[in-house]
Amino acid sequence: MTARHILLLPGDGIGPEVVAQAKRILAWAGSHAGAEFTFSEALIGGAAYDETGNPLPAKTLALAKAADAILLGAVGGPKWEGLDYGVRPERGLLAIRKELDLFANLRPAMCFEALADASSLKPEVIAGLDILIVRELTGDIYFGEPRGVTIEGNHRVGRNTMIYADWEVTRIARVALDLARARNSAVCSVDKANVLEATEMWREEVQKLRDAEYSDITLSHMYVDNAAMQLVRNPKQFDVMLTGNMFGDILSDCAAMLTGSLGMLPSASLGETDPKTNQRPALYEPVHGSAPDIAGQDIANPIAAILSAGMMLRYSFNMDREAALVDRAIADVLAAGKRTADIMQPGSTQLGTQAMGDAILEALTTLSNQQKVA
Ligand code: NAD
Repeated sequence: MTARHILLLPGDGIGPEVVAQAKRILAWAGSHAGAEFTFSEALIGGAAYDETGNPLPAKTLALAKAADAILLGAVGGPKWEGLDYGVRPERGLLAIRKELDLFANLRPAMCFEALADASSLKPEVIAGLDILIVRELTGDIYFGEPRGVTIEGNHRVGRNTMIYADWEVTRIARVALDLARARNSAVCSVDKANVLEATEMWREEVQKLRDAEYSDITLSHMYVDNAAMQLVRNPKQFDVMLTGNMFGDILSDCAAMLTGSLGMLPSASLGETDPKTNQRPALYEPVHGSAPDIAGQDIANPIAAILSAGMMLRYSFNMDREAALVDRAIADVLAAGKRTADIMQPGSTQLGTQAMGDAILEALTTLSNQQKVA
C-alpha cells in the first residue's frame, strides 16, 4: 500500500489530549492494514497565535495542502477572547476550511447500544441509530450577498441572501449519493421548496442528478420543519440526510444531541476530488470545542477524536475493515462499562483520557486476534 501522510493539528485546550489518543489508534490501524502512515504536527488556533501572531500560519497551511488527511483537535479558549476578530483562534479553523474548499461536512449520529439510556429520547427510539448528515458548508445564506444592516427611512433593515448555484447543489448531492451507496442506499434531501425558490431549485437539481446517475439510490425530499420533527419522532427512518448550510447547521446539532455527549461526536469536512490523483482534501475533527474547563486534567473524552480518526480511515484511505474495528472496539469498551466522566453512569468504571485510549487499543488488539483465529 502507498505511504500516507497525516497532519495532526492538536490546537488548544483538550485538543492535544484527545488527538494524542486518536494518533495511537491511527498508528494501530496503519500497522494492522500494512499501510505506511507518517505523521507531522503543526500549530493552529490560539497556540499558533501565541507562537506566530497568526491562527493559521503559512507553514501550517502548506503542510495541510500537502497532507493526505488532517486530524484537528479543537481551537479557542478564554485566553484569546479579547483578541481582534481577525486573529481569533476560530479564524484559523474557518480559514483552513476555506483555503481547502471543504464544501462537504459529514456528521454521523450513531448510538452505541450501551449509551442508549443516556439520550433524552426513549432508548427504543434511539438504540441502533446510525444516520449520516451531509451538509453543504461553503454556500447559502451564510455567504450570500447582499447582506448587512442598512438604514431605510426611519428603520434599520437587516438583510441576508440565501443563494445556491446549480453546480454547488450538484457537487454536494453527489457526495451524499455516493456515500449512500456504501450504506443503505437511501438519501433524504431536506429543503423548504414550498416557500423558498432557492431550495426549490435545490430539490430539482438533486432529483435530476439522482435520475441521471444514481437510479440505484432511493431519493426522498422533506421540508425542513418536518425533518426537524421526524428527527426526534423516529430518527431511524433516515440513512443519509442531505441539506444546505443553514438547515444543516441546525439539524446536525439536533441529531447530534440524540446520541448523548458532545465527547462522542465526530465529523469530516471534504473538498473536491482531484481527477488526476483521485485524492480529496479532508479534515477530520471532533464536533466539540477546546473545553477549557477540563483541559490538562486527563478527564476529556477522546472518543469523538477517535471516531473522527475512524472516519479518516473510511473516507480518505478506504480502510473500511479497520474503521469498522474501531467502531466495534469502542462499542465493546462501552459495553464493558468503561466510561469517561462526561458519560459516566452508576455502576460503570470511570477512566481518564489516556486510560480510555489504552482500553480502546486493547479492545482493538483483542478483536483482531479473534479475527485471526476465526
Ligand atoms: P466546548 O465543546 O468546548 O465545551 C462545552 C462543554 O462540553 C464543556 O463543559 C466541556 O467540558 C464539555 N466537553 C466538550 N468536549 C468534551 C470532551 N471531549 N469530553 C468531555 N467533556 C467535553 O464548547 P464551549 O465551552 O462553548 O467552547 C470552548 C471553546 O472552544 C471556545 O473558545 C469556543 O470558541 C471553542 N470551540 C471550538 C470548536 C472547534 O474547534 N471546532 C467548536 C466549538 C467551540
